[in-house]
Amino acid sequence: MRRKLAAGNWKMNGVKAQLAELDNIRKTHPNPAVDVLICPPATLLSDAVKTVSGYPMMIGGQDCHTANSGAHTGDISADMIKDAGGTAVIVGHSERREDHGESDAQICAKATTVMENGLIAVVCIGESLAQREAGETLSVIGAQLAGSVPDTASAAQLVIAYEPIWAIGTGLIPTLEQIAEVHDFMRENMIQRFGTDTANGIRLLYGGSVKPGNATEIFAVSNVDGALVGGASLTAADFCPIIAAL
Ligand code: 13P
Repeated sequence: MRRKLAAGNWKMNGVKAQLAELDNIRKTHPNPAVDVLICPPATLLSDAVKTVSGYPMMIGGQDCHTANSGAHTGDISADMIKDAGGTAVIVGHSERREDHGESDAQICAKATTVMENGLIAVVCIGESLAQREAGETLSVIGAQLAGSVPDTASAAQLVIAYEPIWAIGTGLIPTLEQIAEVHDFMRENMIQRFGTDTANGIRLLYGGSVKPGNATEIFAVSNVDGALVGGASLTAADFCPIIAAL
């Protein structure tokens, strides 16, 4: 059975004072049956790991390079995230795809490095509004899955986050039918590619404007195994009810 996962992506938010909220999330973590992952900015990784030390919470990175070390000014590697105590890395977030022109092939290489380091890769995919309106959603999702999920993926080390670009930070969410359509499609796609046993162990998260007020209905959708939460993961007041809803 897949364990539910509540993942928080803090994006480029948070200086040291923000660790107090992480501590609040740790203290009020309402549901031990749910895995919790927080991905703070890289500057807070080590401190965040210390903050949750001894508690059943994971800390992760928001991106990494494809290499473990080298002349790549400004980048950090999966090896460094692991060294800081991180256990997961988000790769292929649409903000990376847009801001840094990341391709499916690069994201696949990053996910491969993450897994080779023994960490969990949280691979993000999702269509733009124009693609949805053109009826291209499932073909876009299929192409992104084929291009960014490594052949070497295992259920334990792969999480896929479906994040429609137009739902991120906008307060808009797809209908529950639309979420179900994409999540059922992703599960079937993984079954075709990896077989039933592996595919049924891969956690599929929904992301995009998840809030305490809509989490319960989203989590009731078939093949939704949790959420990748942006803004509402920044405070315990918002994030803990989302964890509780799982
Ligand atoms: P919001 O929850 O702020 O819409 O962000 C979603 C997201 O991009 C998480 O990775």
